[in-house]
Amino acid sequence: MTVASYEVVIGLEVHAQLLTKSKMFCACGTQFGLPANTQTCPVCLGMPGTLPVINEKAVEMAVRTGLALNCAIRSPNRFARKNYFYPDLPKGYQISQYEAPVCENGVVDVQVGDTRKQIRIRRAHLEEDAGKNVHDGDNRAVSLVDLNRAGTPLLEIVTEPDMRSADEVVAYLKALRNILMYLEVCDGSMEQGSLRCEPNLSLRPVGQKTFGTKVELKNINSFRFVKDAIEYEIKRQTKVLNEGGTIQQETRLWDVGKGQTATMRSKEEAHDYRYFPDPDLVPLSIAGDWIEELRKTLPELPAARQQRFVTDYGLPDYDAGVLVSSKTLADYFEACVKLYDQPKAVSNWVMGELLCELNNAGLSADASPVGPERLVSLLQLVEKGTISLKVAREIFPELYASGKSPEQIVREKGLTQVSDEGALVKIIDEVMAKNQAQVAQYRSGKETVLGFFVGQVMKASGGKANPGKVNELLKRKLAG
Ligand SMILES: [Zn+2]
Repeated sequence: MTVASYEVVIGLEVHAQLLTKSKMFCACGTQFGLPANTQTCPVCLGMPGTLPVINEKAVEMAVRTGLALNCAIRSPNRFARKNYFYPDLPKGYQISQYEAPVCENGVVDVQVGDTRKQIRIRRAHLEEDAGKNVHDGDNRAVSLVDLNRAGTPLLEIVTEPDMRSADEVVAYLKALRNILMYLEVCDGSMEQGSLRCEPNLSLRPVGQKTFGTKVELKNINSFRFVKDAIEYEIKRQTKVLNEGGTIQQETRLWDVGKGQTATMRSKEEAHDYRYFPDPDLVPLSIAGDWIEELRKTLPELPAARQQRFVTDYGLPDYDAGVLVSSKTLADYFEACVKLYDQPKAVSNWVMGELLCELNNAGLSADASPVGPERLVSLLQLVEKGTISLKVAREIFPELYASGKSPEQIVREKGLTQVSDEGALVKIIDEVMAKNQAQVAQYRSGKETVLGFFVGQVMKASGGKANPGKVNELLKRKLAG
């Protein structure tokens, strides 16, 4: 039997919680982590006789996101009821959008390794979030419902099935998250659930045009799990197909502990939800001039900023890509360059020492204990020759951890670089006196001995001698 080779086809649904102050259809607040059921009112509790009112700010955020994703804005668009029963959904339906979403037909440019790829956006629509069921840990007989989150605005962004590997999915997801954060419409936190992704995935024999049966994956709350879950699922489906089995259309949950996916429920079809236009909400018209006004409020987006970093600061494309991969990191970099006009030196430090500490602490650049002024004063100490680059690198972790200024650390540790000629000449004389044989070798033409002398002088100075000066002085002294 020959084993077929398969192509994987992946599409992605992303739910982004919008950063509005109030909910999608009522005036309740959206703050995370407050006591259960304190952010509720008759509308989001689903009481009969209440009427929803559309949150203009949520529509604005949806339109701005649509524009940034190169979508067409649909007017009028319309809200629909998606009917299903769940204890955290008191109305028995979710207000969403179905046939007429606010944004459609967009495209996102994604960098995957060395190649660029376009991922098409099928649609982005507004909807309300459900509440949260809390299953009591000590007493499994009790389940509680917290409706604080019920009615929080979500933008669901759906791609065409354009991705062909886990790496492409992760690259798209990072690019999308970055755009949402540049727009300041979503905080991008996968851990807290403000950005949730659900890949759907199918296999087909290479060369076949029609799609295979697709499986949807849920419960994925980090980039790493996205990759792990997809790679696991590709292996699982390949095995089933190679053994002559068939794939069931279903929703599967990623189990982090076991590192595998497991059946959650058979996948429902759209008609199972009995969608119909919500009779409480009229079709939503969006004026063309408002769209144009919002277009003008779009910030510089990551791709444009990357290009500008290359052109304006002369950075390599790689550096620019790393820096703009987070808005706060790019802002940090630009704040430094404003104070100290050496973009490449700044970029090396931001991408190297700083990013390393931030990643270890799980912090973003705006929360860095070493602000742009501190980093710049460290770089200036190197430029002035007060300390060597090596010493600067060595003290960075302390600078980061202690909250002290670079000058204070250098002073306390006595790390000031010795550039004073008199002091250096004294050390050089001592070293030469102790190594007469090598002096003779150098003078008879063996110039490679210079390296030995530099090493000895640096050692004798406790690493504090200015290497450039040492070289210069040694050559002069050894020449006799
Ligand atoms: Zn409410």
